[in-house]
Amino acid sequence: MKTISDLGEFGVIEELMRGLPTSGSGLLCGIGDDASVLSRSRSKIVVTTDLLEERVHFDRRFSPWDHVGYKALQANLSDIAAMGAKPRFFWLTLGLPRDFFIDDLKKFRSGLNRAARKSGVICAGGDTNVSRRGVTISLTLLGEAGRKIHYRQGARVGDAIYVTGSVGEAALGLILFQKGIPLTSKTRRYCRRHTKPEARVDAGFHLASIGIHAMIDISDGVAADLNHILKASGVGAEIYLEAVRPRSSFRNLCCELSLRWEDLVLTGGEDYELLFCAPPNKHDKIQRLSNKLRLPIKMIGRIVSGRSLSCFGGDGKNISLEKLGYEHFKK
Ligand code: ADP
Ligand code: MG
Repeated sequence: MKTISDLGEFGVIEELMRGLPTSGSGLLCGIGDDASVLSRSRSKIVVTTDLLEERVHFDRRFSPWDHVGYKALQANLSDIAAMGAKPRFFWLTLGLPRDFFIDDLKKFRSGLNRAARKSGVICAGGDTNVSRRGVTISLTLLGEAGRKIHYRQGARVGDAIYVTGSVGEAALGLILFQKGIPLTSKTRRYCRRHTKPEARVDAGFHLASIGIHAMIDISDGVAADLNHILKASGVGAEIYLEAVRPRSSFRNLCCELSLRWEDLVLTGGEDYELLFCAPPNKHDKIQRLSNKLRLPIKMIGRIVSGRSLSCFGGDGKNISLEKLGYEHFKK
């Protein structure tokens, strides 16, 4: 099989860019010069960047390369969505081993391309280097926001806490891979949530115009990410576990694997759902948006005074959280 050493740096860039959207309004100069040039007026610019490291963030034994390309963009799209902005341009920086197969590069590009076209973002540049160990992907995404940007610091006592979609599924998928459990009709959904997540781009953008108070995307787990909002806003929260109770197939699978579904739902990372806080009078608007987007948006708790996060089971008892999500460098 041919490797990228047969292509050279510029051959790799050419191959990467094949079919990728690389031009559009507002981009005066994209790929092909020393730097990209944008022209913007009026809007606020929102920028995020993410680093994906092979064996830390993805594993080539579990994730096909097109899923890796897809996920790389989704992780950044999710951050822009959480600010309530519209994603527009991205920069792609790659570290690739010399023996990386050209076929895999094409697969990576095709996943990236699908994610880019689906969300309407344009590749405005990047950098390509040789890596001595494994694949490194750094992606920077620029978005535009209207009047309202949703920071983590806006939560107020009395706000309801909402979560889009379903949580804990990506973490269950990763455990299934790590345990070597084969893909079946029962497990496929969760494995896919891990390798090929979908950022809630439309939901984030629309929520921004509803008048919510604070928003974050769930990359480290509901508890850990909610904690960021609590810290930034100087408030506490209660979560009602019954409100995040997953489907029975999820709970049954957890049971078979001797896992507590509560742990996965509260601390499982990488679902890329949105968690936000809104005053109670926005409830109807939020439900209407949920119907319009065909995306479940569940109220899972409340912002309270104090600084702590408590979880209550169906019986009203306080439940301890074994760990608050995943943190890098921690053992
Ligand atoms: P420079 O030496 O000025 O950094 P390069 O030779 O590295 O420029 O890159 C040439 C052009 O190709 C630049 O416009 C850069 O933005 C683009 N480019 C390089 N690598 C990538 C990549 N991985 N994805 C997108 N564009 C890239
Ligand atoms: Mg360069």
